Amino acid sequence: MGRSEANDRARLLLARYLGQLAERGEREIYVSEEAARALREGLGAGCSAAAAVAGADAPAPSAEAPSRRERGAALKEGLRAVSSDGANGSTKARPAAVEAAAGEKEEPPAGSVTQTKQPKEPPTADRPEPEIVDVTLAFTTAGAAPDMFSGASPLETCKSMSDLEKIASTCESCELAGGRNSVVFGVGNASARLMFIGEAPGRDEDLQGIPFVGKAGQLLNKILDAAGIERDDVYIANIIKCRPPNNRTPLTSEIEACILYLAKQVEFIKPKIICTLGLPATQTLLGIRESMGSMRGKLYRSRDLRVIPTYHPAAALRDPKYKRPIWDDFLLIKREYERE
Ligand code: SF4
Repeated sequence: MGRSEANDRARLLLARYLGQLAERGEREIYVSEEAARALREGLGAGCSAAAAVAGADAPAPSAEAPSRRERGAALKEGLRAVSSDGANGSTKARPAAVEAAAGEKEEPPAGSVTQTKQPKEPPTADRPEPEIVDVTLAFTTAGAAPDMFSGASPLETCKSMSDLEKIASTCESCELAGGRNSVVFGVGNASARLMFIGEAPGRDEDLQGIPFVGKAGQLLNKILDAAGIERDDVYIANIIKCRPPNNRTPLTSEIEACILYLAKQVEFIKPKIICTLGLPATQTLLGIRESMGSMRGKLYRSRDLRVIPTYHPAAALRDPKYKRPIWDDFLLIKREYERE
């Protein structure tokens, strides 16, 4: 069997498999980005890998090469499954990995992914403008609440990120110091245009001393990857630097004790966009005591800094209903990021 024929067969098997899953009512099907691209563009390179992913349930290869008509029908079915425009069956492609992260499962399959049945979603450029809310951020050192920085604080004399991290590493300003393995200061590009701010370190983060390395962090990585944003280009931190016992929500007193570290991080990094992940981070930064549902989907503007809140990735791991709004928020982040 020639290479072209083998590629056609692999593509056919994958297309059949996707079609079968779609017929069974599967709403999300995961294949590699490479395979999805091959399906759309008619390239064979990724199909063998994709067929291997699907292998356990894929039909056994037929001894005969598929006819042109058979290939066409199966591919059409498979392409409908991976199409970016499920409403009209168009095969116009968009990055498969984008769909991957939006459809991420709690235990994602290895390799992987793109979802087959796409929610209707206009291209990023055509999306409606979000509501813009002018705010005065409650935590910045340069902004609205200079009184937070009045009084003696060793942080006031701190002139660099490395000095700040050094101070934090021995901090005992709240009771969380007693139960930590690490001070989870932050990670990423110290000149990032985009900064993510989460809630607090979890078990994995506490053990490794790096934020967002557990399951939620892995999901964040995939969403970033799908959005075409390099994790190394952004900076990631939490509103508190030490793990609360049993991952409970940080107390107000703990946030108040720790928030100066974050304020100084923002001051040093000078991001253009901050994405807050979850309720405590969003309420703390915006100084707004509303639900995530009412705060997300908007763009908050404070001077030249924009804040885009979204649910914490851990929420999507607990309940798939949060996938869609998180992805919508990341489309907004991506658009603002590209405007910079
Ligand atoms: S959580 Fe923040 S304030 Fe509390 S001990 Fe850790 S670094 Fe210090």
